[in-house]
Amino acid sequence: MTSTLDTVVIGGGFSGLFLATQLARLDRDVLLLEASPRPGGVAATVIEDGFVLEPAAGTFMLPHRSLTPLLDSAGVAVEEAYPDAALRYVWMRDSLVAIHYGPKALATSALSKRGKLRMAAEPFIRSSPPDEGVEESLREFLTRRLGREAGTLLSHIAASGVYAGDPNNMSAAAAFPLFTELEAEAGSIVRGGIRRVRALPKPRPPKPKSHIPVGGMSEAAATLAASLGERYRSEHPVTSVTKEGDYFRIEGAETLHARSVVIALRPDAASAILQDIDTTVLHGWPSSRVVVVGVGGAAQDVPLPSGFGFLTGPDTDAVTLGCLFESSYAPGRAAPGRSLAKVIAGGARNPGFVDRSDEQIVEAVVSEMERALRATITPSWTKVLRDAAGIPQYDLHHRRRLAAVDDLEAANPGLIFAGWAYRGIGVAHLATDALRVADRIP
Ligand SMILES: Cc1cc2nc3c(=O)[nH]c(=O)nc-3n(C[C@H](O)[C@H](O)[C@H](O)COP(=O)(O)OP(=O)(O)OC[C@H]3O[C@@H](n4cnc5c(N)ncnc54)[C@H](O)[C@@H]3O)c2cc1C
Repeated sequence: MTSTLDTVVIGGGFSGLFLATQLARLDRDVLLLEASPRPGGVAATVIEDGFVLEPAAGTFMLPHRSLTPLLDSAGVAVEEAYPDAALRYVWMRDSLVAIHYGPKALATSALSKRGKLRMAAEPFIRSSPPDEGVEESLREFLTRRLGREAGTLLSHIAASGVYAGDPNNMSAAAAFPLFTELEAEAGSIVRGGIRRVRALPKPRPPKPKSHIPVGGMSEAAATLAASLGERYRSEHPVTSVTKEGDYFRIEGAETLHARSVVIALRPDAASAILQDIDTTVLHGWPSSRVVVVGVGGAAQDVPLPSGFGFLTGPDTDAVTLGCLFESSYAPGRAAPGRSLAKVIAGGARNPGFVDRSDEQIVEAVVSEMERALRATITPSWTKVLRDAAGIPQYDLHHRRRLAAVDDLEAANPGLIFAGWAYRGIGVAHLATDALRVADRIP
């Protein structure tokens, strides 16, 4: 048998990179194997014609208790987003309406007076979550807490803005656990939030702000990988993982043995390499396909407002889920005097849109940008990016599926599943999960 490693991590997306970084920080014996020539997975920055387009995550909210130490230890360079990054809009009633979070939410004109009054009553609403074992949808939960109008609007933009999903089919507890935890703790989202803020140590930690990785997410991934040195191997697709006594045998460019194997791949890709284990639970994991479109040009030809961007409201008939004003909030995304927008379209509402031709996609999203921004858009550069596998959906069956994944791990000690399909979809969740997983590895 070849020498035995403590831990092999399979998949060099941000999930695998964070876990390997954490294990390296703990001075543990770890090897990260990535199939492609470059690390970063779906977050593969496109740099063309002076535009920097992120097809997946593009920002980090920092400081963050798990993410900050990982990025800092690898030396990932970040810079703060422009101050207007906090300005967000909903495209509704044929225009862009500013939307605020926290106490300022009541200032929005996105809701009627009556809708705002009902939302403001949330701390006093006594209503119980459904019985144990019954999954409540995001829309049901937010409507129960905030009233029909605010609940419908917020569940829609939260589901489509984060998951490209359908609020009627997403589990509130799985997709936005903070909301349901706050209700469980204090009987109200608002009262729970206040209680948590009061419990923070003094002086209070600084509020997280949007930060942009210098050179893009691919550069951040490359820095994380470089900091691993010989603990990272690219162009090393793993073809199978099988059990061999107390060890796992990992086949790929070479044969390796490890006590623990972390599979930081999508569930279907994980299932494909696990040949002697029943992985039925990983089959057909739900996802929502989106297309990301870069729309760039001279600032006067692609006029963008200040702010982060807009999400499409529930009553607006459009294929666009949201549009980020990249050059308005993020340094380095376009050369001076030029603008870049990133449109995300398709999703649960328009799943077939992704299959249209690039020309049709560009035509549709540019014409919707014109409607939303009430401006003429004549881009000099466009880019259409499709991710065949789509965004994992934390739907009404997600927690049941996750429990089955826990059972699979328990039945196969040393085998661990990680990645955005399971315990949190954003990069900050992946960092938190990396710390949790590292603690579990003996
Ligand atoms: C449109 C969009 C917008 C997003 N916006 C945000 C956002 O604003 N904020 C945020 O926090 N997150 C966002 N995300 C989510 C974020 O990008 C993901 O959470 C993260 O990139 C997923 O990383 P991962 O490591 O779990 O998976 P992946 O990136 O899928 O990585 C898996 C890796 O495994 C490798 N691999 C596959 N098979 C094998 C094999 N057999 N052997 C070895 N390696 C293999 C792949 O090459 C890949 O590198 C967004 C995602 C999308 C699609």
